[in-house]
Parts: sequence; C-alpha cells; structure tokens
Amino acid sequence: MRDPRYDILFEPMQIGPVTAKNRFYQVPHCNGGGYRDPSAAAAMRGTKAEGGWGVIFTEQCEMHHSSEIAPFIELRLWEDKDIPMLRKMSEKMKEYGALAGIQLAYSGVNGPNLYTKEVPLAVSAQPIRTFTNDPVQARALDKTDIRDLRRWFVNAAKRSKNAGFDLICLYGAHGFGIFQHFLSRATNHRTDEYGGSLENRARFVNEVVADIRDAVGDTMGLTLRVSLDETIGELGFSNAEVREFVEMNRNLPDLWDLAQGTWEDCSGPSRFKEEAAQHALVKGIHELTDKPIVGVGRFTSPDVMAKMVKTGTLDFIGCARPSIADPFLPKKIEEGRVEDIRECIGCNICITGDMTMSISRCTQNPTFMEEWRKGWHPERMNTKGDSSNVLVVGSGPAGLEAARALAERGYDVALAEATRQLGGRVARERQLPGLSAWGRVADYREYQLSQKANVETYFDSELDASSILEFGFENVCIATGAKWRRDGVARQHVVPFPTSEAMPIFTPDDLMDGAAPSGHVVIYDDDHYYMGGVMAELLIQKGCRVTLVTPAAYVSEWTLNTLEQHEIHRRLAQMGVVIELNRGVTAIAADHAVTNCMFTEQLREIACDAVLLVSAKLENNAVFNDLKSREAEWADAGIKSVKLIGDANAPGPIAWATYAGHRYARELDTADIGDALPFRREIAELAID
Ligand code: ADP
Ligand code: SF4
Repeated sequence: MRDPRYDILFEPMQIGPVTAKNRFYQVPHCNGGGYRDPSAAAAMRGTKAEGGWGVIFTEQCEMHHSSEIAPFIELRLWEDKDIPMLRKMSEKMKEYGALAGIQLAYSGVNGPNLYTKEVPLAVSAQPIRTFTNDPVQARALDKTDIRDLRRWFVNAAKRSKNAGFDLICLYGAHGFGIFQHFLSRATNHRTDEYGGSLENRARFVNEVVADIRDAVGDTMGLTLRVSLDETIGELGFSNAEVREFVEMNRNLPDLWDLAQGTWEDCSGPSRFKEEAAQHALVKGIHELTDKPIVGVGRFTSPDVMAKMVKTGTLDFIGCARPSIADPFLPKKIEEGRVEDIRECIGCNICITGDMTMSISRCTQNPTFMEEWRKGWHPERMNTKGDSSNVLVVGSGPAGLEAARALAERGYDVALAEATRQLGGRVARERQLPGLSAWGRVADYREYQLSQKANVETYFDSELDASSILEFGFENVCIATGAKWRRDGVARQHVVPFPTSEAMPIFTPDDLMDGAAPSGHVVIYDDDHYYMGGVMAELLIQKGCRVTLVTPAAYVSEWTLNTLEQHEIHRRLAQMGVVIELNRGVTAIAADHAVTNCMFTEQLREIACDAVLLVSAKLENNAVFNDLKSREAEWADAGIKSVKLIGDANAPGPIAWATYAGHRYARELDTADIGDALPFRREIAELAID
C-alpha cells in the first residue's frame, strides 16, 4: 500500500466553500478537441477522475462571444445552449469525487475574433498579440465596456454553476487572459483608475472577484491563475511585482494558481526545462498569503511532489502533462505502485494537437483523447480474442507498446529484437543532447514487460521471413522501424539530386552509430522537426563548425507546435551555429554545397568538409514484404495474420509509433469493420431554419 512519505499528498484541502479530497490538481489544459469534440473531451476528464485526481479543470473556456481565439479549439460558454455540453464534462469530472473546475477566459488583446467578427476589446488599444500576427487591432475598453465585462463574467459564473462546476478559475496567465493584461504595464497603458499604479492595475480583478463572490461564492471556490513572471523585461508583470500583488491582495482568490511565465515557459519541454523548474519563482510566495497555492513543474516524481508540500512551497501539486501521460498517477501513488507511473517525457506532442487544431495525442499514453472516440482506457485492455500468441518483430516504441498491450490483453507474446537493447530509435535518440527524458518511453515499457509472465524477449534476433515462417506464431506484428535516407530526398527534392562521392555525407543514423565528421559541417534540414537542431548541437559539442541550411523560414520549423522553436534557435545561435533560412541545397560537390534561395533561386556555394542530410526516412519493410510474397506458406506455418506497424509502415514522430503499437494490440482478433469509421465522432446538430 501507500508509502507513508506520500501521505501528505492525500490530505483533503479546502478551496473556499469546497474541499478537494487530495492535493492532486489537474490544472487547465487544452486537448485540441474542445467544443468540436465535447464527448471525447468529457471522457478524457472522466478518466482522470477515475485515476484519483482531487481537482480537475477544463481547458480555457471563452466566456463571452466578444473575445475568442479561433482557429484554436477550446471551450465556449456564450449562451445557455452551451451549458449541456459543459454539464456533461463536470459530471464526468465529479464521478469519483473530484472537484470540477472551469477556466473562464476573456482573451482581450490575444483574441482576434476571426469567427465572431466582433471588434476585439482590450485593456489598451494594441495590435492583437497571438501566434499568427493577425493584422487586427483591439479597441480599448471604455468605462461602459468595463461595466459590461464585469456583468459578462457574472453571467458566465452563473452559467458555470448551472453547468455543475465547483470551481471557477479566472485566467490571467501565460500572457493570455484579461486579468494579466490589466496587471501588466506591457498591455495596460491606461491613465484612468484602472491603469498606472499596481493598486489601479489590480482594480479590475478585485471587482470581478467581488462580483462573482456575490453571485456564486457561497457554493463555488474562486481561483486566480497568474504568471509568476511575464518574462518580457521591466515593463512586464515581473516576479517581484507578482509578489507585491499577492501581498497587497493577500486573500483575493480562494486559491492562487501560479503558472510559470509565458505558455512556452510554463509548458517548457524536457529538452530545455527540468522538473520543478519554477521553484525559484514560487518559493516564498506562501508567506504572502493565507490562501492555498497550486503550481506546476512537469511533476512526475512523488518525492518531488511531497517535498514541494513539506517545504511549504505549494499546497496543491498542479499537473497538466503528467496527468495526460498518466491519468492514474494519483491512484498509483496511493496504491504503492510508484514504479507503474507512466512518466511524461516532456516532448510536447500533446500541445501540437491544440496548435494544429486537430486533436491531441500523447507519446506515452496512446489512449489520450481516444477514451470516448475508440473506447480506449489507459489502464485496461479489451478482453483477449480467439488466437493465443503473437510474435512482435522489433522493439522500438511501436513494438514495445504492442508487446506490452498484447500481454495485458492476455496473449502470449514473443518480442524479437535484432540488437542487444530494447527501445529502437528511442534507445539511440535518448543519447542525443537534451533528449535523455525521452528514454522513459522505453523504460516504462521495459519494466512493464519484465513484470509479465506471458512475454519472452529475444535479443540478437534479427529475423527474416524464413525464420518467422519456421516459428509458427499465429500472429506476426512487424515493427522494424525506419532509417534516415542517404540521398537527401524529402520535400525540396522528390528524387535524388547530384552529390559528389568525394564529399563525406552523413545521416543522423551514422552519427548515432558513432561516426564523427570533422571541420565545417553543413546540415541540410528538410525534415523540419527536432533532429536537424539536435544534430547541430551534437556536432558543435564534438568540435565541428556548423552551418544549418533549411528551406523553411524557421529552424526546426514544426517545433513551433511544440512551443520550443524559439529556444532551439536561441540555443543554436548561442552555440555559434550559422543558420541559413529559406535556403535549400541543390548539389553537393567535392568541397562545397550549392545552396539556393527558396524565393529567387539565386545560388550560393558554402565550402565545407562534410554534409549531414536530415531528410526523409526509408521504411525497414523488407521482412514484411518477403513474408507477404510468401503468403501461400502462411497456413502451413500456422500464421493467421501479419501486420506492419509504426515507422516500418510509415515513419513519423515517436507518438505515432506508440499509437500504432497500441492500436495493433487493441484490434487484434476483433471483427472487421469494413468501410466503417474506426472511431466515434460528433457533428454539429443542424438548426431548424
Ligand atoms: P518504431 O518507431 O516503429 O517502433 P524503431 O526504429 O524505433 O521503430 O524500432 C525498430 C526496431 O526493430 C529496432 O530496435 C531494430 O533493431 C529492430 N529490428 C529491425 N529489423 C529487425 C528484424 N528483422 N528482426 C528483429 N528486429 C528488428
Ligand atoms: Fe508528456 Fe509528451 Fe505526453 Fe505531452 S505528449 S503528456 S509532453 S509525454
């Protein structure tokens, strides 16, 4: 049972008029589903309720139609019609005794109102500040608008109560949310009683809290989410000013929800931020208030969590990503199963679902946002089907997750791996600069497999079609991965381009295998995710001079979606990497690369000693193809099914591979659904004209 060291995490805690059953607090987080996928989002929150969280919040909820952040898909509470969808969510949250919280957001200077076409209202007149530099400005709120806005908050609070919530979070963190915009001199240039001194800048939040307390404060707890440091220099709402604000308004909310800085800071990836990275910013704030504090820090270690409480730094352990990677984190600590925790790796793939307005995935937890769509539960598999055994070939993230989930379902599993270690690409990539936490993908699964009697692992077992046919397993799952291409084919070049044999040319696989280019290395990055930037760091560490050439407008462009692009550029620039944006490579000669401007086609040579190609990947599908060509022999060998999954099927990020492995395990021996859609979805109800 539970280790007494962690008892403190399970103490009930009061938040205004309501009491949380423990200190595990799922802070608001997006999921890319929002109002478009309300049942999927509700079921996801419900899974966390079952997993033991004491407090569970929605993502940000646009509380009035005059401020919205389309195209991003969050929640909406614009009229009574929105209440049933939110009630469904609060009911799921409360099913196992958690407090249900809703985060009310008025985006002000962050909301371009692309959907409602309303003129944005902000604290001061300014261009809209968001990810996309929309050519839109906001008008400053006048006194009548401020009165209206106060009333809209009260209306939203009453609707939240009606929708069954226990807690309201007023959003004023991450640079988002009107409360921060009033508090920060960067966004508040007013000369009336709402601007100037800190007391004046804090007037609006005081008024709204008082209004909401009057309306619903007898039954609902009120929390205020502010950033610990706006991190934009002197003008911003700095950590010192946050402390002053808390001290001046000691008991303003029923709980202080202290986020780190910008969203990029607060959700910093493991490549740039350690666990509990906010510690210095939050330490000591407790003495300035009598109200409880929740803070975040990608907490996955119960020891760190207990320390945060014991040292009086935090009262609640705030988690977004750790609760996504393992919705059952509190339950596992409570049941003394700490080693079963599926730790977040800090890759921020979950955030890409929001940034791309699709739906979120999680590298570690493939069931995230599939709880309702596919009926997947993070801790329980469907019952075993008719066949009894499976051979999984390859132990990368796809093969490992397939083996783990199949064993959980009750199949006898043999896992064959060509090398002497589990993890495939993860075992290799975890050695690269900044990626060590990604090794948790393999560690978690390796431990789980070690606990199961129905899994056998075979190392040094590079299988071919003949050996697989000899073994005679009923089901064969091929998860043999992919290799980086050596010919530079990706997006700029769809067929190979001229390269000289005299130039040493490398791929990321070569470097991971220990190859060591020297001198000046040109990296040609036409992949655009993390690998190009990571390779640049590695080469600098090894003493090379590095020029990174990319046809994109940003280094590691896709990492805009993982909120780390700016950190990658900063780190590479600080390390001395020469960054050439909007340029491709058209030819590689004996002693130089020929680069071209993506707009003018103007050519420029870059003299170098080696070229590293970060381009597309080639699937390792030869074993699968051989087996396919020998399909006539399957029946005699006792084989019922052969399937290709993961990178060997179609290369992608690690999360795509764990998803593929999990899906294989779920769907084995299930009925063929033919042309039917493989998941549930909701579509908007047609209005009666
Ligand atoms: P994925 O991301 O799809 O899981 P990886 O490339 O990470 O793919 O992992 C593939 C794994 O498969 C590697 O560990 C590799 O050594 C192993 N592998 C490749 N071919 C064979 C084979 N023929 N037999 C056994 N293991 C193989
Ligand atoms: Fe953590 Fe990555 Fe999962 Fe997000 S996607 S919760 S960062 S493991």
